[in-house]
Amino acid sequence: MLWHDGRTERQVLTLKLILLAAPGAGKGTQAENLSKHFGIPTISTGAILRKNIAEGTELGSIAKKYIDDGKFVPDEVMIDIVRKRLHEDDCKGGFILDGFPRNLAQADVLDKSDIEIDKVLTIEVDDETIIERLSGRLECEECGTTYHTVYRKPKKEGVCDNCGGKLIVRADDKPEIIKSRLATYHSQTEPLKEFYRAKGMLVTVIGQNGIEKTTEKVLEALEN
Ligand code: AMP
Repeated sequence: MLWHDGRTERQVLTLKLILLAAPGAGKGTQAENLSKHFGIPTISTGAILRKNIAEGTELGSIAKKYIDDGKFVPDEVMIDIVRKRLHEDDCKGGFILDGFPRNLAQADVLDKSDIEIDKVLTIEVDDETIIERLSGRLECEECGTTYHTVYRKPKKEGVCDNCGGKLIVRADDKPEIIKSRLATYHSQTEPLKEFYRAKGMLVTVIGQNGIEKTTEKVLEALEN
């Protein structure tokens, strides 16, 4: 893909980006598109935790009881995971951080750490749309790619287009858990917008209008 001024994506300066949005606002999908566009990895804290749960690690067993209840995993656990992951070699040219920080305590630790962040992208979607989206969400058990029973169907029902893995409904996408995750987002994560706006790092995009349109708007917004 060509950048508007004629550069290729590889020639764009490194991008260290935080994605900040409600669950179901399209963070994961946009992260996937941005990751391909910029050639940088997406670090999804939720995906790291789910992988650990699937593999039955000690971290997985700690995380499972919080995730299944729609609660946050303790800050010190998350900070440790993120710090280690962002210091790996593939993050040197930039990264997209999806799912961290999720509250002011995590943002504060990140802010005081040696990890630099260039921009914070927030994708705005209203609660009604989020509930509708999450209620139909499917996720590949193997690679984590997300689909939707109406808006983003896989080519073959129940099977991941990417890797052939089985598509499942996430345990925390049940209606009663969705409502509690949304409430937690509004009370704990949303205040981060102000935190980053005050630092002049916040970029806001409306994510109401479908996947491709949102990616277009995100790329435009990040260019400025
Ligand atoms: P996600 O895939 O980003 O929606 O994350 C799924 C679940 O993982 C969340 O509902 C939390 O329980 C947990 N989680 C992911 N990232 C964090 C974080 N930064 N802090 C605390 N818990 C997290």
